[in-house]
Amino acid sequence: RAKRAGKGIWRYTDERLNERLQADFQMETLLRGALDRGEFELHYQPLIRLRDGTVMGFEALLRWNSPQLGRVSPSAFIPMAEERGMIGLIGYWVLEEALRQVRHWRESRWPELYVSVNVAAVQFESELFASQVVNLLGQQRLPGSALKLELTERSLISAVASSAAQLTALRQLGVLIALDDFGTGYSSLSALQELPVDVLKIDRSFLQQLDSQGGAFIEAMVTLAQSLNIFVIVEGIETQQQCDVVQHLGCHVGQGYFFARPQPASLAEELCQVGWASCEI
Ligand code: C2E
Ligand code: MG
Ligand code: MG
Ligand code: MG
Repeated sequence: RAKRAGKGIWRYTDERLNERLQADFQMETLLRGALDRGEFELHYQPLIRLRDGTVMGFEALLRWNSPQLGRVSPSAFIPMAEERGMIGLIGYWVLEEALRQVRHWRESRWPELYVSVNVAAVQFESELFASQVVNLLGQQRLPGSALKLELTERSLISAVASSAAQLTALRQLGVLIALDDFGTGYSSLSALQELPVDVLKIDRSFLQQLDSQGGAFIEAMVTLAQSLNIFVIVEGIETQQQCDVVQHLGCHVGQGYFFARPQPASLAEELCQVGWASCEI
């Protein structure tokens, strides 16, 4: 007994580990059935042209409303879906749903609007990915320009390695590739020259350091991107001041809570109309 008490700390760690494994296992089990039970939803956040507040497109962001777990953050369940072989089916659903929605928007009110969809590296590992995208676009009778695909630098490097041909095929159709969260991790400016990138999404961490060096970095990224004919979007604009600074630094399109939070399609649509009249940008 005494010995056991002496090892209390280990038992504690064991229990914590055990709890984590169980929570993990529960989430995995629930996640496996989430698609069939219709627990996923897409929220949409507008991409705004800073000059006049025009909505250029929407980023589709996946939401999981689990009756057992509540709202689970994508940063928690997407890595799990990637690791455990579920992202293929989920990602397909995301693409299908986002394209259906953008077709509706293009037909009803914004004929040039696009939707930007996050894709995981593993999705490109399937040889079928590009043809699936082509089929889904065809089903909705949409041109490639109605869709952008967002990859992080790590995913993009891995997609180039596993299927450069698929990336090329999609770009030839007008499906542009956006490099997400740029400036985080190991990103270097030279990556821009080496990777097939059409759009650069500058990570919101740079806006949090606008007073120190964030602004200088944004400016450098914008200058380089422009010389490489890459389009720039700044993520995470939360205030009028950030909006002004970013515009001054030469960015054309922004995204962030200042304009609108990610919302279900019907609300996103309304928010944009109100937002854009009142922003005075
Ligand atoms: P991301 O693609 O970089 O998406 C932007 C994230 O920043 C979103 O978080 C969005 O809600 C948040 N955000 C937007 N504006 C602001 C702002 O002004 N301030 C702050 N603090 N945050 C802002 P969310 O929706 O939690 O998504 C997290 C990540 O999950 C995404 O980052 C993306 O990497 C991943 N993800 C989301 N949906 C999908 C999907 O359908 N497939 C894949 N593979 N990944 C997805
Ligand atoms: Mg994204
Ligand atoms: Mg991002
Ligand atoms: Mg991010």
